[in-house]
Amino acid sequence: MESMAESENCIPKATLSRLPAYLRYLKGEAGKGVVFISSASIAEDMKLSAISVRKDLALVSAPGKPRMGFELARLISDMENMLGYHCYANAVVVGAGRLGRAILCYDGFENYGIHVVAAFDNSPSKVGALLGKPIYPVERLKEIVAREAIQKAIVTVPKEAAHEACNLLIDAGVRSILNFAPTYLAVPEGVQIKCVDFAAMLATLGAPLSK
Ligand code: NAD
Repeated sequence: MESMAESENCIPKATLSRLPAYLRYLKGEAGKGVVFISSASIAEDMKLSAISVRKDLALVSAPGKPRMGFELARLISDMENMLGYHCYANAVVVGAGRLGRAILCYDGFENYGIHVVAAFDNSPSKVGALLGKPIYPVERLKEIVAREAIQKAIVTVPKEAAHEACNLLIDAGVRSILNFAPTYLAVPEGVQIKCVDFAAMLATLGAPLSK
């Protein structure tokens, strides 16, 4: 029996965006010794609608067993496969300031199969190493991206420099970019960019929701 949805490419964006939260919750349950879990209990604990959880899980994994639910280890593995967590990727940070250095030091990326291997900066005072990870002058970006087979990048430069950093990465062959600079960045087709804005997220948190 197929353990995954028929086509991984068909998974809706909304479902995909919920998978990391499911995974965190499910791994917590696995840590408590839970072996089988029902979609209803996931929905209840995660305060989600039972219908959307049922639909999400149907897209990700084989159906659960009647009266027992989903085998937790299998469900976790199917979600990780769908998210590509078993396909390791090397990543770099561009902009080794306060945020960039914090990201370079964070070891949580490894849980998702992402190795943040180096950072780049245009200020000679930032070049060096942090916790054993090199910080290179930005002029070496193309060479290092090719040498380390870098697939993903995190942009943490000031907004005025974000376009330039992004273009450098794209020119070097990076196709997946997470941008923290508060500016809109247009990218060519085939390049995926996601912008993160904690301030905007915090501002919208707590805003009244329509029913
Ligand atoms: P910072 O000034 O401490 O660090 C920026 C670094 O980028 C510096 O080390 C600088 O030398 C380097 N830099 C500048 N131009 C560069 C270039 N062309 N190439 C390579 N390196 C370059 O800033 P920070 O506090 O770490 O913030 C970094 C970015 O993240 C800013 O754009 C900031 O607005 C943004 N930010 C976003 C959020 C969010 O919620 N999205 C939160 C914090 C910071």
